[in-house]
Amino acid sequence: MPNDEGGSPPVREQGGDPVCWLERVCPECGLFVEDEPPAVCGRCGAPIPEEDAR
Ligand SMILES: [Zn+2]
Repeated sequence: MPNDEGGSPPVREQGGDPVCWLERVCPECGLFVEDEPPAVCGRCGAPIPEEDAR
């Protein structure tokens, strides 16, 4: 991909809001949970833990 130097600020800003959708996937059934963890899976009721996997 083209890489323009000196003039193109990065579009993606990382570090502000650590949104990681992997943290919102039910570990039991794999359903994507839109609620911010900790939450409860809407399908199987499994708890979605807060992001502490690091
Ligand atoms: Zn589930």
